[in-house]
Amino acid sequence: MKTDNEIKMQNRVRIIKYVLDQRHVSRQEIASRLGFSMPTVFSYVTELLDANILCEKGEFGSTGGRKAKALSICTGQRYVVGMDITKRHLRLMLMHFNGEPVAELYFKYRYENTDRYYNGLGVHLETFIQNHDIAPESVVGVGISIPGIIDPKTNVLQRSHILEVSNISLLTFSKYIPYPVYFENDANSAAYAEIPKNEKTNIIYLSLSNTVGGAIYLGSSLYTGDNYRGGEFGHIILHPGGKFCYCGKQGCLDAYCSAMVLLDHSDDRLEDFFSRLDSGDETCIKRWETYLDNLAMAVTNLRMAYDCNVILGGYMGGYIAQYPGCFFEKAETYNKFDQDTSYISMGKHKRQSTVIGIAQLMLNHYISHFAV
Ligand SMILES: [Zn+2]
Repeated sequence: MKTDNEIKMQNRVRIIKYVLDQRHVSRQEIASRLGFSMPTVFSYVTELLDANILCEKGEFGSTGGRKAKALSICTGQRYVVGMDITKRHLRLMLMHFNGEPVAELYFKYRYENTDRYYNGLGVHLETFIQNHDIAPESVVGVGISIPGIIDPKTNVLQRSHILEVSNISLLTFSKYIPYPVYFENDANSAAYAEIPKNEKTNIIYLSLSNTVGGAIYLGSSLYTGDNYRGGEFGHIILHPGGKFCYCGKQGCLDAYCSAMVLLDHSDDRLEDFFSRLDSGDETCIKRWETYLDNLAMAVTNLRMAYDCNVILGGYMGGYIAQYPGCFFEKAETYNKFDQDTSYISMGKHKRQSTVIGIAQLMLNHYISHFAV
């Protein structure tokens, strides 16, 4: 049985999330869409205006009588920061409380499991916030994305092949960060940036970057599995006895669909591969065909397993979108159950997907625990 306070908190959260999603709404709309009486809406909205969560901006057109005031989420009072940790870089994003990005910073910052590195995270974050003239007390939280398997119950990074560490307390990462923090892994964060927030949907997200990962959202909620390894699609075996994967197995999807397989050397640039492809380089054409073939097979397998929409994300998602014909033809050939390939779409946010997603998750976490 919920207490009165818990019910009030839940109702406030529903209203904030509704306004966040709709951007501009009237009190009448909140009442009719969320099933509250008008006096109840007036009371909650007054609280949220006083707390500077909502603000009144403009009016809706009149249908006779008084014009309805337009409510939206206040900007300029509260911010969140997204922090995307990768092996060689750090990406930071400052986000308004209404979900709009304010600023972004991306730079080389090589991961090492040392106090110097973790201290540097705090220093870079503070400098980033100060450089945008944001008062530290306006930052309500920092979302931190880490490429690896995170156990939220024990607050431990179980394993990260990419960072080459295991069993590290998450608090090590936030030791020098003087704000509330929220952790999630990179693919789950990236997927969150891509899923619709205003409807309950099932989505499989396949993250295609230097490694292959993924996430499963059922009814718009993250499914993590029993051991937080749900959605680790990179290590599904696609070709038994095939190429060696960095995880130690042979034939994993990662060994066939990581962006690295398109390059001759790990520091070659993908841009160069695609310009050679465009100029008709035979080796590139062959490599790209094989890549798409393996990807089409994997996507079809995911469709058969989950029977829902599949989003291709990570930075390869953007490249595949530029050469759609070939990929969709292959996906259609492998799948005899669907009439077309409309269940497949490409991620919108490309290289920013993880940092946007982790900032949005921090925002969502803050709102979900918001008490006046
Ligand atoms: Zn593997």
